[in-house]
Amino acid sequence: MRGNGRIFARKNSAVLWCAYYLRGREFRESTGHSDPKKAEKFLQARRREVGADQLGVRPFVGPAAERVKISCDLDADQEVRAKCDCLCCALERDLKFRGKESQQNTSNLNRVRRDFGELRAIALTADDVDKYIEQRLAEGSAPASINRTTQLLGQAFHFGIQRKRLTSAPDIRHLSEKGNERQGFFGETEFRAVVDNLPAYMKDFVRFAYFTGMRRGELASLKWEDVDGDVLRLRAENAKNGEARAVPLEGELAELIERRREARRVKMEGRPLVLSAWIFHRDGEPIGDFRKVWRTACCMAGVGKLVCPTCEGPVDAEYNCANCSRTWAREELKYIGRLFHDFRRSAVRDMVRAGVPETVAMTISGHKTRSMFDRYNITNDRDQRDALRATQEYRQQQASALREKIAAMPQRSAGVN
Ligand SMILES: [Zn+2]
Ligand SMILES: [Zn+2]
Repeated sequence: MRGNGRIFARKNSAVLWCAYYLRGREFRESTGHSDPKKAEKFLQARRREVGADQLGVRPFVGPAAERVKISCDLDADQEVRAKCDCLCCALERDLKFRGKESQQNTSNLNRVRRDFGELRAIALTADDVDKYIEQRLAEGSAPASINRTTQLLGQAFHFGIQRKRLTSAPDIRHLSEKGNERQGFFGETEFRAVVDNLPAYMKDFVRFAYFTGMRRGELASLKWEDVDGDVLRLRAENAKNGEARAVPLEGELAELIERRREARRVKMEGRPLVLSAWIFHRDGEPIGDFRKVWRTACCMAGVGKLVCPTCEGPVDAEYNCANCSRTWAREELKYIGRLFHDFRRSAVRDMVRAGVPETVAMTISGHKTRSMFDRYNITNDRDQRDALRATQEYRQQQASALREKIAAMPQRSAGVN
């Protein structure tokens, strides 16, 4: 018996092909050789791989999976990416399909593309990933940001396996993020200083976030049709947790919405007056990426700074890092400071401190679980103070009751303790 498979010629091709079987499935592929001896050697190698699979030593990868790349060219345009079958492009399309596309996912996926490049998927080992993690740690990256990259890498592999394009994925370690949670909170004065330094179209957007703790994407989606009398209704499709919720427009919020109603009219040079469909808008268009104005405002308000992306040290007015003796472009600098998302934590914390029950605070901010109360150690300090005071009073009462009791007892004779 000659063993599994055969060599054959194809029309119009000098290169010989081979065919072989595993579990009833036929694999056909080019041997890459026109010399029958070399072609036979290629087939022999495949036979050994098939044999190893049949013995349960190692799963057979196969010619298609061998070709799968982690990422295509970083500069590939959208047209190429729409059809590309690298792991990153496939995951990108999957995220889009499931409505999980976000600025964060895109930038993390770009990091995967940049760092793992055009490496073939089957070539990446668990050791490689470990080394990558160690290197990032040595460069000073936070465990959380390393995890965001490696999680997406894992997701890309997982999706490839689900779609039967790969048979295995490297084991990817997850770093502990304990003690590394972002703990940024806004105080009233900080908040006002940031608002003062923001462009006009951003001010009410930011105020609304500070009052309600709503997410940036949720706020940007708000249209006038969502205002129902004195209640704002966030539609389910625009809520990150997928559940519609209502926010009553009370106090400063009501004033803010009135102000937005005035700002609805958009008059631009040489164009007819239009009414903006969005509550928060920039010349009638919804609020898009505002990272740049945000960073500038925070730096001016003294709650943020731009640092050297390598050593996180200070840079001078020309963006030169003395430490690394390197001059950066402004866009390359790393931002450290208050985040827009800090409003969310702050709103919830202040509601709870003001005595609002956790469950009610969650219906306004749109938190689905109460885990963030523990994560950010948000407790109502007042409740605890009341508890301690009540305990102390109780003990004092107990002590004075005891003193009265002792005083009422008949005197014992001296000498006995
Ligand atoms: Zn691709
Ligand atoms: Zn530096």
